[in-house]
Amino acid sequence: MDVASRTSLPNFTIEPTTTPTDAATREALLAKPVFGRVFTDHMVVVRYSDEKGWHDAKVTARRPLSIDPAASVLHYAQEIFEGMKAYRLETGGIATFRPEANARRFRDSAARMAMADLPEELFVEAVDQLVRIDADWVPHGEGQSLYLRPFMISDDVFLGVKPASEYLFIVIACPVGAYFSGGAVSVWVSEAYTRAAPGGTGAAKCGGNYAASLVAQSEAKAHGCDQVLFLDSRERRFIEEMGGMNVMLLRDDDTLVTPPLTGTILPGITRASILTLAAESGMKVEEVPLDINEVFEGAASGRYREAFACGTAAVVTPIGRFRRTEGEAVFGDGKTSGQVTLKLKTMLTDLQAGRSNDAQGWVHRIL
Ligand SMILES: *Cc1c(COP(=O)(O)O)cnc(C)c1O
Repeated sequence: MDVASRTSLPNFTIEPTTTPTDAATREALLAKPVFGRVFTDHMVVVRYSDEKGWHDAKVTARRPLSIDPAASVLHYAQEIFEGMKAYRLETGGIATFRPEANARRFRDSAARMAMADLPEELFVEAVDQLVRIDADWVPHGEGQSLYLRPFMISDDVFLGVKPASEYLFIVIACPVGAYFSGGAVSVWVSEAYTRAAPGGTGAAKCGGNYAASLVAQSEAKAHGCDQVLFLDSRERRFIEEMGGMNVMLLRDDDTLVTPPLTGTILPGITRASILTLAAESGMKVEEVPLDINEVFEGAASGRYREAFACGTAAVVTPIGRFRRTEGEAVFGDGKTSGQVTLKLKTMLTDLQAGRSNDAQGWVHRIL
């Protein structure tokens, strides 16, 4: 049995900030938050060591970390994270969406990166604690929410290459609006770079995957695109996913299709939720390999009608076109959302905002 499940969960010490942001300043920041630039007053920190297990759980003022220059995360990148949101409910109150799924995936990421196992209850409790103390930071506006970033870093002061024996689990939060400024995005199909190989870390939410994807994202920008699409690393033929979002297409037989989880794709909770909601609403859904050449031909022939990206940050974002060296695949008018894409987005966001019946019990009410 691992240490994390052996030890009892630590109690949280709550140390409210002595310098809270005043209400007027906060409201001004909440009016139009730039994604990932505005932060709340507090953070959660929990420590781990092989001897003590998880301990020293704190809700405290958000402040810079003091970390030794030999801390192992700075050299060998044992780092994993999650991305989730707290929403204001239409009926009043604040909730997160499927936090146990994030907690489960965090454990899976930790296992892949040989990091400490964090109990799911501790993960969910840490997030709840931060949302409770910073509840005033959850914005009210349409499409706005409080983005939550739980993450773990290795903290051994040691330059040897081995799994660390000390870790920090931290949760920070930032009020956000839409990730994309609106309309359909254009997506560059990377031919030069791949994101993940069989046996690699593609299914783990680790910072290293992002570090490796940034050059491809720059290549996409250089080609006038907003985002990058990665193909499988073996044949460079099958669609995998985008830098930080999963991808779905609508076929002309009214079937929603998306690549299967083969170990090289991040198992998105938005992806899983949309597949469930679509199937429940009577749509056909298929998890099948999608050949990029077939998708380009299918966009031209009308076989593929709509395309969209999905993830916590992007929610559901229509894809107007895929672009590669030999041309473009355009979906719909290339600018606006397709009908089914819009319907799926509405189904998901209605559920998250408490506007529709939560049959699955996905809404986790905090306040
Ligand atoms: C986080 C992430 C996603 C989306 O996952 P959600 O759980 O839906 O937010 C997709 N792809 C990558 C690479 C990611 O890091």
